[in-house]
Amino acid sequence: MDLVCPLCNGLYNIEFSCTQCNSKMVDKGPLVNIMDDYSPYLLDDITHRIDGVERERCIHTYQCLDCGFEENYSIERKKL
Ligand SMILES: [Zn+2]
Ligand SMILES: [Zn+2]
Repeated sequence: MDLVCPLCNGLYNIEFSCTQCNSKMVDKGPLVNIMDDYSPYLLDDITHRIDGVERERCIHTYQCLDCGFEENYSIERKKL
């Protein structure tokens, strides 16, 4: 059984509204972002190891398109 983050693996998008101005927020990627071209699966693993978040969740930074407000959301990993 393998749990993957739907955002990191491009399965689907999850949208959040800005808590400041209620505009649309966009995913800026996982909290620990490796600059190079690693595969999504590898990135997922590295992210998990570095930030020590529970295996079931992946932390993503979202930014508001309107006011620039940033917030972290924990995304539930799904079974592939
Ligand atoms: Zn993720
Ligand atoms: Zn906003």
